[in-house]
Amino acid sequence: MRAADGDPWVSVSLLGEALFCDRAGRFQYEQSQEDTGEESDIAPPRRGWYRPPFSIAEIEGELARLRPRVGVLFAVAAVALAAACLLMSPQGVGLGSGLLLVGCAFVTVQAVRAMIALVALRELLAEARAAHKGEPDPGRHEPQEVSWWSLLANGFEVQRYEDKLSEPHWRLTGKPWRVLHRGSVRVPVFRKRNEEKKVFRQHFARVAAYAYLIEMTTGAEVPYGIVLLGSSYRGLAIMIDNGSKKPFFDGLGRAREIIRSGQWQNEPESGTKCRACPWGKPMTTNRGITYHSACGDRYGWVPPHQKAFLKRLL
Ligand code: SF4
Repeated sequence: MRAADGDPWVSVSLLGEALFCDRAGRFQYEQSQEDTGEESDIAPPRRGWYRPPFSIAEIEGELARLRPRVGVLFAVAAVALAAACLLMSPQGVGLGSGLLLVGCAFVTVQAVRAMIALVALRELLAEARAAHKGEPDPGRHEPQEVSWWSLLANGFEVQRYEDKLSEPHWRLTGKPWRVLHRGSVRVPVFRKRNEEKKVFRQHFARVAAYAYLIEMTTGAEVPYGIVLLGSSYRGLAIMIDNGSKKPFFDGLGRAREIIRSGQWQNEPESGTKCRACPWGKPMTTNRGITYHSACGDRYGWVPPHQKAFLKRLL
């Protein structure tokens, strides 16, 4: 797999996409986005009162940040209510007191939402602290379900790498979403977009590619990697063995070929790949009536995406 002179650099996200579909690989290459260790169209972190924490320290940090805000919000609501009552005349609610009542209602809603978030974080902290130690069985080669908190209870620490990892001999680069550290052992973590307990070749390839990068750049031992399921705290452990290395090597080779071969790429043999593919998802233009997609525009067709069927484009 050593890169020849003139071979391009390939990111882990590119080799994953190349393994999925040639056209997806081409799009990924042209966008040349930094690898983030997540699937390209994964939902952004939950908006609202806190970002999903992935360690006990992060939960405690979010709780420390949120607690005073809840108190302040309830205090502001109480002051607004008191002021509204003072301003009210015997004839009823005037403009000033009316505005204060509306403001009080708004702040109370925010305070209740913050309170709900606080309770959820406390429950999460209790769950994380009560988790039993757990680790995948190294003797089993199929993906094994794991709990995030059980892995942490077993002594792993969560690390977030600032810089991407690069290996010049294979011209491979990438950054896992997180890496679990315990002594000389490292476990790369990749996040897929949904919580479906299924992994495909591109997931095996990505985990093995991150393992290779970590081994080559740090000398650490990487026995397996984790595919985290969406925003949940559950994942599937994938062993670093021939079953995961083969897709990794195939994806790296395929990515190099796609880059060399230029813009045109054949469509996949099976349209089922397009059903949930973000490159084929139909979007409405600014004018509001014409549908298009990245793949459809480039290759002059309507990819059989499930939304294309719903919109009766096919
Ligand atoms: S829409 Fe279909 S052909 Fe286009 S990139 Fe996605 S999977 Fe490939």
